[in-house]
Amino acid sequence: MNIEYDKTKKFACLLGSPVAHSISPAMHNYSFEKLGVDAKYYAVDVNADGLEDVMKDIRATDFLGANVTMPLKTEIIKYLDKLDISSQLAGAVNTIVPINGQLVGYTTDGAGFVDSLREINVDVEGKDILILGAGGAATSVIVELAIDKANSITIAKRFNKTIGDVLEFANRVTTKTNVKTSVIDIEDNNAIKEAILHRHILINATPVGMTSNKTLIDKSFLRKELVVCDLIYEPPMTKLLKDASDIGCKYINGKYMLLYQGARSFKLWTELNMPVEEVKDLYFKPDYKSQH
Ligand code: NAP
Repeated sequence: MNIEYDKTKKFACLLGSPVAHSISPAMHNYSFEKLGVDAKYYAVDVNADGLEDVMKDIRATDFLGANVTMPLKTEIIKYLDKLDISSQLAGAVNTIVPINGQLVGYTTDGAGFVDSLREINVDVEGKDILILGAGGAATSVIVELAIDKANSITIAKRFNKTIGDVLEFANRVTTKTNVKTSVIDIEDNNAIKEAILHRHILINATPVGMTSNKTLIDKSFLRKELVVCDLIYEPPMTKLLKDASDIGCKYINGKYMLLYQGARSFKLWTELNMPVEEVKDLYFKPDYKSQH
């Protein structure tokens, strides 16, 4: 492994590249210390080429668990022994847990997203939801929305070469959970406008808004009753969220998803609750969510 680590403590880490900027080591190490867990969490910068060796090294440590981030959330699967139901459906893993000598893959991104909605008092059960994008983050969120009994999920996606995979994914989710899914063309403004009119929650799971002041959604399509979520957390207020705030919608950015997916992973490794309020105060301020 490309890091020096403390062999007297249990080993936990984040696998991916780049990882140097990640907040995960700070929040997990703070929580280990606070709760007396004798473990240390490291950021391990690794891409697909180096993953096999790193996984061998990890199996030789006193391993507590790992998080997995881009670009390895799918690649990691072939190095694991088992997947939980959400990871199987999403085809992605963001958490590894050693259980009885086997490495088991979970995805806590979607559950972290749903947990984050409690910050703005929103429950997904019975809701009609439009999600923009169908990549790694979107699939984890869609699976959890379905498990948590959303009424319907519409995926807005570019009709390009990956459309077949997304249609198949949507069918799989419906078959396993009985939740209605549909796929519409993200570039068809009339379809988007019509969809938003009949949905309770809109989620941006594309990177649009991350490096530019752009949004895929015309401001005039938003209405006050719509809950607007952006998985992006940097910048904290994307154009979509600024528009939602202007219209008077409830809104939230992706920072709380990051916090709660971490808290879910922490619980899987330690069976303890992360001290989220303290972690929030230390690493997740200021708030970027509506206050009503
Ligand atoms: P990804 O796997 O690359 O997927 C991106 C999705 O966005 C794809 O479906 C892609 O469509 C679509 N897309 C990209 N550019 C588009 C455009 N100009 N117009 C329409 N659709 C577009 O990325 P990801 O890992 O899912 O991440 C997506 C976003 O979520 C990122 O901003 C990331 O920072 C954020 N995220 C947040 C958290 C958190 O904890 N808050 C966690 C993970 C990710 P095609 O399939 O057509 O290419």
